[in-house]
Amino acid sequence: MTIPRDARVDLPPEHIPKRWYNLVADIPGLKPPLNPATMKPLCPEDMEPIFCKDIIRQEMSAERYIDIPEEVRDNYIYLNRPAPLQRAYRLERYLKTPAKIYFKREDMSPLGSHKGNTALAQAYYNAECGVKNLTTETGAGQWGTALAMVCNLFDIDCTVFMVRGSYDQKPLRKTIIHTYGSTVHASPSPMTAYGRKVLKEHPGTSGSLGIAISEACEMAAGDPECCYSLGSVLNHVMLHQTVIGQETMEQMEAAEIDPDYMVACVGGGSNFAGFTFPMIGERIRGKTDCEFVAVEPEAAPSLTGGEFRYDFGDAGGMTPLLMMYTLGSDFIPSGIHAGGLRYHGMSPLVSAAYDQKFVSARSYDQTETFEAGVLMARTEGIIPAPESCHALKGAIDLALEAKRANEEKTIVFCLSGHGLLDLYGYDQYLTGTLPSSAREC
Ligand SMILES: *Cc1c(COP(=O)(O)O)cnc(C)c1O
Repeated sequence: MTIPRDARVDLPPEHIPKRWYNLVADIPGLKPPLNPATMKPLCPEDMEPIFCKDIIRQEMSAERYIDIPEEVRDNYIYLNRPAPLQRAYRLERYLKTPAKIYFKREDMSPLGSHKGNTALAQAYYNAECGVKNLTTETGAGQWGTALAMVCNLFDIDCTVFMVRGSYDQKPLRKTIIHTYGSTVHASPSPMTAYGRKVLKEHPGTSGSLGIAISEACEMAAGDPECCYSLGSVLNHVMLHQTVIGQETMEQMEAAEIDPDYMVACVGGGSNFAGFTFPMIGERIRGKTDCEFVAVEPEAAPSLTGGEFRYDFGDAGGMTPLLMMYTLGSDFIPSGIHAGGLRYHGMSPLVSAAYDQKFVSARSYDQTETFEAGVLMARTEGIIPAPESCHALKGAIDLALEAKRANEEKTIVFCLSGHGLLDLYGYDQYLTGTLPSSAREC
C-alpha cells in the first residue's frame, strides 16, 4: 500500500522556527496585569523578586517576533522538534466522516508533552541571568518533570511543589523528578509559611495548583539566587510554545492542508496558545477563515463557566492580578485525571482572544474524553494524555458534525501529550469505575 503524502508531514531540524510569535503585537484591547497593593499596572520591578530580567522583558514585550537563542534551538532537537503532523486515516474511517483529521504530535518529546518547549527557554534565560535554583508547582506532574529535566542542561537546581493529590496518586511522576535529580515536596508543605498556614487550617487537604504556586513563589521571593518558573498562563510561556503552531503552519502549507478548525485543550492555555496563536495572527490580518476551538473539562470550565475579570493566579494572593476568565482563585476542582486542566484561571491572552470571539470553547465530562482516548488507541495506536483526550473529543465531535452536514471539513488538533503515565485513569474507564467529573476520583 502506498502511503499518502499527508499521512505524516515531517520537517528537517533546520526548520525549527528561528523566532517566537507574540500575539500581544496583534490583538487589540489587552488589559495589563495589576499590582494588587497599588491597583496600578504592574512594573518590571514588581516582578524582580521572583523572575529574572530576561523573562520579565519577554513577559512585558509587545514585539511581534522574538529571536530564539541558538542554544535553545539546538536543544529543541533533543525534544524531538520539529514534531510531526500526522493524519488520522483510521480514525476518520472508523467515524465514516468526510472530514479530514490531522494531529500535531507533541507526545513525541522524551518528556511526553509540550511542556519542554517553554521549560527549555526558561531554564536558558535563568542560567544566563545567573540563577542557581528554580522553584515551581506541578499538578499532574508533566510540568515538574519537564523543568527538572531541562535544569540539568543548565546546571540549575530545581525544587518542585507537587499538588498533594497527585503526589499520592501518581508516585511514578515523583520518581521521574527524582531521576532527573530534582527535589519534590507534596503541597501544601511545611517548607513555606503559606503551606504551614493551609496545613493548619485544612490538615487533610489534597491541595491545588493555586496553593502550590503560592508556595513556589514564596520560596523564590525569599532567596536572591532563586527564581520561580511557571508552566502556563503567562505571556512569555504562550510565546515560547508558538514553535508548535509555526511548525504546524509550515507543515500544512507543504502538504496543502487548509484547516477549517484548529482544536486544543486548555488548562492554563499554553498548548492551545502555542498551537493556534500564529494562525490567529493570520486570522486577525484577514488571511484565513480558520476557526479555533478550546476544549476544557466540565470540572474546571473557566472559559465556558467562569467570569472575565481581574483575579489572582494563585490561592494565596501573592501573584499580580491578571485580567482573565476565572472560576475564582479559591476554586478547588474535583480530582479528574486530566490534572493539567484543573486550574481556576486562563491565560490572559487566550482569555482576550476568547472574549473577542476569535476563539470558541466547549467542555466535556471526563468519561466521554476517555472514550475518545480509547478510540484513538484502537485506531491510531496512540494512547493520548487525559488532557489531550479533551482536544481529541472536540475534534471527533467536529468530524461527526461534518458527517451530518456531509461537508469535507479539515480539522487539525494538538495532541499535547501521551497517556502512558496515566494508565490508572484508562483502567478506571475500562473497568467502569471512572467517576463522572462532578465527583472525586
Ligand atoms: C499541562 C498539560 C496541559 C494543560 O496545560 P496548558 O497550559 O493548557 O497547555 C495539556 N496537555 C498536557 C499533555 C499537559 O501536560
